[in-house]
Amino acid sequence: MSLSPSELERYGRQIQISGWGMEGQEKLKAAKVAVIGIGGLGCPTSIYLTAVGVGKITLVDNEKFELNNLNRQILCLQRDIGKSKAKVAKEKLEALNSEIEVEAVVAEITRDNVHNLIGDVDVIVDGQDNWKTRFIMNEYCVTRGIPFVHAGVSAMHGQMTTIVPGKGPCLRCIFLKAPPEVEEIPVLGAPPALFASLQVMEVIKLVTGIGRLLVGRMLFASGEEMAFETVEVKRNIRCPVCGGL
Ligand SMILES: [Zn+2]
Repeated sequence: MSLSPSELERYGRQIQISGWGMEGQEKLKAAKVAVIGIGGLGCPTSIYLTAVGVGKITLVDNEKFELNNLNRQILCLQRDIGKSKAKVAKEKLEALNSEIEVEAVVAEITRDNVHNLIGDVDVIVDGQDNWKTRFIMNEYCVTRGIPFVHAGVSAMHGQMTTIVPGKGPCLRCIFLKAPPEVEEIPVLGAPPALFASLQVMEVIKLVTGIGRLLVGRMLFASGEEMAFETVEVKRNIRCPVCGGL
């Protein structure tokens, strides 16, 4: 997949990064990435995936923007309140980068429809705020061998890990039971923006092969303490999801 003169200019500064080059940019152009949930994480994630030149981005969200989303869901302007998150995001992202393809999927993910909604993609990004859907996505990714970049945020802290099925633990290895669901998670914009940036870096590394992935490691960050910690997480050979791999 060769690059046009305008793409060479648009991505010129990142192509200079050691190990990236034309080859890395062409891999990004050929890549298909799905972002599940266009909220505090998914808005900045999809903006940076668009800016960096991922060739096809699928945005999945069933909800409409509300006023109380505006403190963190940065693809929403006041005039977008009441409109579909996925459709608004698609329109803005296409205005940012017309060289890529953006697909909006307005639907709630279930175990039965996930393949029809997303199909075969190279990486899936977790922008969800509930463990029920996260576990569905985790299982789908393990079954199809798709890398899954998990992140979760609350208040001023968050966590993330990258799941590469068969190479490291899946979410169910780490959380055998779903953590309790919180109806309305207290949060502001900066922590999801931080984790969204880190998720995008993992996507870039997964696609281009640059660097060391956050596989088998969980990163915790606290904005209150301004502390970052990475702990090792291991596969559970009896994991009900990935134990058979
Ligand atoms: Zn597992």
